[in-house]
Amino acid sequence: MKRAFKYRFYPSPAQAAELARTFGCVRLVYNMALQARTEAWTLREERVGYNATSAMLTAWKQTDDLAFLNEVSSVPLQQALRHLQAAFTNFWAKSAKYPTFKSKKRSRRSAEYTTSAFRWRDGRLTLAKMAEPLDIVWSRPLPEGASPSTVTVSQDAAGRWFVSLLCDDVIDQTPATGAVGIDAGLDSLLTLSTGEKITNPRHERADRARLARAQRNLARKEQGSVNWAKARLQVARVHARITDRRRDHLNKLTTRLVRENQTIVIEDLTVRNMVTNHSLARAISDAAWRQLRTMLEYKAGWHGRNLVVVDRWFPSSRLCSVCGALAEPMPLHMRSWTCRCGQTHDRDVNAARNILAEGLSVIACGGGVRPQRESSRTGQSSVKQETQRATAGTPRL
Ligand SMILES: [Zn+2]
Repeated sequence: MKRAFKYRFYPSPAQAAELARTFGCVRLVYNMALQARTEAWTLREERVGYNATSAMLTAWKQTDDLAFLNEVSSVPLQQALRHLQAAFTNFWAKSAKYPTFKSKKRSRRSAEYTTSAFRWRDGRLTLAKMAEPLDIVWSRPLPEGASPSTVTVSQDAAGRWFVSLLCDDVIDQTPATGAVGIDAGLDSLLTLSTGEKITNPRHERADRARLARAQRNLARKEQGSVNWAKARLQVARVHARITDRRRDHLNKLTTRLVRENQTIVIEDLTVRNMVTNHSLARAISDAAWRQLRTMLEYKAGWHGRNLVVVDRWFPSSRLCSVCGALAEPMPLHMRSWTCRCGQTHDRDVNAARNILAEGLSVIACGGGVRPQRESSRTGQSSVKQETQRATAGTPRL
């Protein structure tokens, strides 16, 4: 199984200059090829594929204006054309929008190297056109004897450098015994059907306040000025910090959930998110939920677990998980309630239990299930099952 391992690294000034040049050439080649493909289609109804753009690249390199493309490694440029091809394939499959130009300011700066464009020896990585290996911070070990097949170098908006190594990895697939339902919340990040509540990282609230302050500060600066650029970098730094902490938190959490449970049931929040709420807390919790779902999908795939995604069309928080009676609608601030059968429920725990029961019944009867395999960019796959939507309306609980 292929798995990506990402690390920070610190380039020498020469390496940083080489990479910056490469990122610029990657962006230029991607944009020129996109323009050529778009023009060919809109003006002449011609389909231009990867091979044709590859021939164009060869021709561009021979012109005086674009001769500088020869100064960087040719592999990342070829990979940019492959990424563009993948973007078009997704567009034709209706799973993505029409590809857009890469912007100097907003797009991710990255370059992808395949085996012919790097040297991997004794745990040291040297990229094409560089004399010295990269100074990588090995924050966790690569699997024993692993050797990367693809290397992606990137720089984030806060100016930090990362290298991602795609390696073969063998993963333990011994079945686990547990089953868990997960309810997404705003106060506590998640509530499990076991009764456990998982909160946001400890510093999340303070970071959020810091972000709001940095954004206000940026808004006061004159656009394009030196102080504006400084303030913008500051916003990017706080953002990077929040996303790093969240990823770290969610990685630990999802690893534990997948290790302990054979079946994990989550709700599909896309419907619920149609309820508009523009608060920063809401945006952050939605981002966390999307990331949690993605992590659960690929980790369940690695370890052979069942991840069931249920549509939350049923009133899960006021349906008694003991006797099945439906309570009257209740206001959001009511955190617990007592059913006619005498059982007192924590609202979120009760919802998580109902989500678990719904997921288990989906697996047991197989009714309305369409299993599908999904694979991500790196070729990891996961089994996902979704229930058909049973009713059109969705009650807001
Ligand atoms: Zn009851």
